Amino acid sequence: MSNPLSSLEVIALTKKHNYGTWRKQKNWNPSHLLSADGCYFTDGDGKRFLDFSSQLMCMNLGHNNPAVIQSIQDQASTLAYAAPFYATTARAELSKLLLDVLPPGMTKFFFTTSGTDANEAAFKIARMYTGKTKIISRYRSYHGSTSSSIAATGDPRRWPIEPSGKGHGVIFSPEVNCYKCPIRHTYPQCGIACADYLEHMIANEGDVAAVLVEPVVGTNGVLIPPPEYFPKLRKICDDHGVLLIADEVMSGWGRTGKWFAIDNWGVQPDILTTAKGITSAYVPLGLCATTQKIADFFEENYFAHGHTYEAHPMTLAPAIATIHKMQRLGLIDRANEMGAYLGEKLHALKASHPSIGNVRGLGLFWAVELVKDQQAKRPFNTWQEKLDGKPILVEQIAARMLSKGVVMQAWMSHFVLAPPLIVEKAQIDEAVAALDEALILADALLEAEPAL
Ligand code: PMP
Repeated sequence: MSNPLSSLEVIALTKKHNYGTWRKQKNWNPSHLLSADGCYFTDGDGKRFLDFSSQLMCMNLGHNNPAVIQSIQDQASTLAYAAPFYATTARAELSKLLLDVLPPGMTKFFFTTSGTDANEAAFKIARMYTGKTKIISRYRSYHGSTSSSIAATGDPRRWPIEPSGKGHGVIFSPEVNCYKCPIRHTYPQCGIACADYLEHMIANEGDVAAVLVEPVVGTNGVLIPPPEYFPKLRKICDDHGVLLIADEVMSGWGRTGKWFAIDNWGVQPDILTTAKGITSAYVPLGLCATTQKIADFFEENYFAHGHTYEAHPMTLAPAIATIHKMQRLGLIDRANEMGAYLGEKLHALKASHPSIGNVRGLGLFWAVELVKDQQAKRPFNTWQEKLDGKPILVEQIAARMLSKGVVMQAWMSHFVLAPPLIVEKAQIDEAVAALDEALILADALLEAEPAL
């Protein structure tokens, strides 16, 4: 390239002419990401970073995978685009492959270009199929940024657009969080009261089309339900003729040590949505998968949905390559093996940091939650402070790790640790050491305010 832009110019132009997501614009200070390989990326100054969040918990195969790149090049030179009403080889091959990896019973597919629009498809399908309107979501959840999907998002990212979000027929149930139960119960004595509460909601709301869940909650803190929860929820949905939608946008594709998080409990959803890891994020692809029973309904009923870029061949070919590569590398087993190692190290870390309230995870999907005090489990920051652009402690800790070359996602009161599934022990050691060092910021605050 002649006359390449300097890093400073790249940053200045990006910031001046692009919106930075989910923040006050003056608080956006992007770094220049120049190139990447495996678990690392390099910035415009040549500094290397360990990517312990797989970018946005999506690059499960790591950066720069030759097989995925080749599949994009091959597809581009064969058939770069086909309108969605055509059959294509990529579409057929991917459909066949999905039957092997998706939870049993998922047989009919709608391909989108993001997790958000996979969820939009799911809501419309659920409403058309059941003839009902309401969707029960949960408070600590994220389901996307468009009108319906942000309206179904329980966390306060919904607040700034609340007026336009209203009227989308979404109601919220308490999240399933055994560390800090929002309905003040203790597992296992609770008898899974959160599921009973949800049944109470279904019975009293009426007109409920679906219950929408992240089987393992992602950004909102890697919340893992107890073993009885999903079998019980499945039965409740069946008893009331309500569909179960599993949003596996983040939790799918090996992240939790199974192909899909819901597989941890052997439960079959009626609709499954996913994106991110489906192509290891090399190209934007989302998927809304349904049971055959739902598919049969649309044989005689009008399927009122579609996009120009639906089933875009350039997005499907890399999904095929990604699944093949995951199978060849045995990445599901690897997520379990490396996840156990990471979990051990994080539990050890907890013992030496009073600011760590809880460590939890499955596969290579872990959260470290910070608290002001171990008893009351009070967080350091509130959502309002985040929306107001005030300093958030976990973000300051993440900035300190970044200065040491380790990238870890910080969110409200916790870190989400989700490295590429190809991660090695030495890289886990590097990331945990960086967290260990940076947590001094939180521990020091506890010492400064011992009465907290
Ligand atoms: N659902 C979940 C659980 C997610 O984590 C996300 C993205 N973080 C989405 C939906 C939205 O996906 P996308 O950003 O691809 O639109």
